[in-house]
Amino acid sequence: MALKDIKGVGPRTLTLLSKMGINTVDDLVTHYPFRYEFLVRGNLQETNDGDHIIIDGKIESSPILVRFKAGLNKMNFRLVTNSGVVGVSIFNRAFLKSHLIVGTGITVIGKYDKKKNVITASELKLEPLSNKVKIEPVYHLTNGITNKNMALYINMALLSQAKEISDSIPKYYQDKYNFSNKRLALNIVHNPPSKEKLKEAMIRLKYEELFEFMFKINYLKEENKKANGGIKREIDHEKITEFISKLPFELTKDQLTATDNIIKDLESENRMNRLLQGDVGSGKTIVSFIAMYANYLSGYQSALMAPTEILATQHYNNLKSFFADYNIDIALLTGSTSKKEKDLIYKELEDGSINMIVGTHALIQEDVKYHNLGLVITDEQHRFGVNQRANLQNKGHKPDILYMSATPIPRTYALTIYGDMDISTIKTRPKGRKKIKTIVKGTKEIKDVLELMYKELQDNHQIYVIAPLIEDSDNSDLTSVNDLKEKMNLAFGSKYKIDLVHGKMASAAKDLIMGEFLQNKIQILISTTVVEVGVDVPNATMMVIFDAERFGLSTLHQLRGRVGRSSLQSTCILISDNDTKRLKIMEQSDDGFVISEEDFKLRGHGDLFGTKQSGDMTFKIADLKADYKILLQAREDSYEYLKNGENDALKLKLINTIIHS
Ligand code: ADP
Ligand code: MG
Repeated sequence: MALKDIKGVGPRTLTLLSKMGINTVDDLVTHYPFRYEFLVRGNLQETNDGDHIIIDGKIESSPILVRFKAGLNKMNFRLVTNSGVVGVSIFNRAFLKSHLIVGTGITVIGKYDKKKNVITASELKLEPLSNKVKIEPVYHLTNGITNKNMALYINMALLSQAKEISDSIPKYYQDKYNFSNKRLALNIVHNPPSKEKLKEAMIRLKYEELFEFMFKINYLKEENKKANGGIKREIDHEKITEFISKLPFELTKDQLTATDNIIKDLESENRMNRLLQGDVGSGKTIVSFIAMYANYLSGYQSALMAPTEILATQHYNNLKSFFADYNIDIALLTGSTSKKEKDLIYKELEDGSINMIVGTHALIQEDVKYHNLGLVITDEQHRFGVNQRANLQNKGHKPDILYMSATPIPRTYALTIYGDMDISTIKTRPKGRKKIKTIVKGTKEIKDVLELMYKELQDNHQIYVIAPLIEDSDNSDLTSVNDLKEKMNLAFGSKYKIDLVHGKMASAAKDLIMGEFLQNKIQILISTTVVEVGVDVPNATMMVIFDAERFGLSTLHQLRGRVGRSSLQSTCILISDNDTKRLKIMEQSDDGFVISEEDFKLRGHGDLFGTKQSGDMTFKIADLKADYKILLQAREDSYEYLKNGENDALKLKLINTIIHS
């Protein structure tokens, strides 16, 4: 059954849902509420002005119907309750009029205006409610879909979808923990009858999600252990030392240690499966280049994969310049490479004339054949998911694999979610870096901010300006990049060039602007969080973030890491009137590990992996921190199931999703 077959879901709704990443019935029924409203049955005296109330009563006066333009209508009537008489008004329920007969008992749910003694009802129940508490799911929405409609679509899907809902908990554990079946749990989460039932159902769904996740990690770990047929190779250490000595900077102690770990892995007959973890700006890229060089020296091809075209292009240009004097053939392959070029690259990858290739995930698609792929590197690993990890491992002649991540994860969590890998960590900072000055400013102080920006521009430095929205929206007073562009143009446009990138632009257009920013043809780059990942423009020394309270600390830290990439003093300005206590943490610390710990404490893992496009490292219902105990149990159980459990259909299905994703 497809989404479009659900009653009430027309073409327009389909488009809206798809915009939210909901494309299948499974996506829809697992579009979990992000919070609940607990409505307690109240009485008029104890309910404060503006609060929600559920109250029973008898209709005392015939509803009076008022019709407005555009088909809107409103009904008013009086209700007698145990705690007094109250006015009720409700919009757009004219169709209920004939049921609202004087003397009928009903339940009213709505917002109480104490002064006027009127409840503006969101719902009328003609049959009395049996429960004392009503729990309302609140969903993430998009313009054009109301919370009520979302709930309706989900319930329609649940009704019609009874048999097809997939479940990833083996029967043994289902019984062991006395879990309800999946359908029932979903039903409860979307229509909670009570707090207790809701909690039970959530535990069951979280467990399932974490079980599936840990099963994959455990599976990969076991496969890695088996796959000892890695490439054993000879590497010319002298050449590596020479390359390192010619670098324009001295490697830090941790960079050297990481390099050493990697080279040992490459030489060993075991397959490398290593995560290189390091804060933004700690210099992971050069370590990966050395790894590629070592791999090249031993006669194999390397592939470097980045999550965005901007980043892939940047790596490509860097590689080219670091290896300008070496006779190494380097290519770039992305979504916007022309068909003709692509065909040539495919041919040269297969015949071995290309030594190093950089690209987006286009690199690991089925039709790309390598002559002798010896090393695969993925940058910003957290943007890819476990499935891609698996896909990589199945590629070529068992290449060694190096993952890089700038998301510092507290060690315990890293050991679990990266349980299938070895880990190298870069903690030391490159020499000569000054600490980035971070300042929180209120919106009233915008003049100060503009002055600071002006000074920076006069020094011939560049600035990033970040805002959460692309366009102004009626539903929100958040700042949009489009609006900022106009304002910045008014302030600085006569002297400096200002431009804009955001996630909805075609990547060619984005790359063009990023390229101009890199060459200092643009001085102020306004952007949504698309610049969050990896971009390196050393002359940019100021980061200004509007509505900073909207972002998690880890995201802010990543954004801030775009500046401070040279020996110049850099500044990060966080503009916000709210939540300044949290933002002050940014003023105090520049250590990604500390910040991620704080973020963990404050928000759970939610922000760690960024919000969207994070592969399967984002969970729909589980939270790595809050649900850590469930995670550990799921790890143990899924391992036991993998090793000892029956090779039933479920196990095959789980393994299949790993292999064929
Ligand atoms: P990240 O770890 O965030 O990917 P990069 O690898 O992009 O960081 O490095 C940030 C910048 O620091 C780059 O311009 C890089 O050339 C430079 N860099 C890397 N290592 C050192 C070092 N040891 N000393 C000075 N600069 C370095
Ligand atoms: Mg990087």
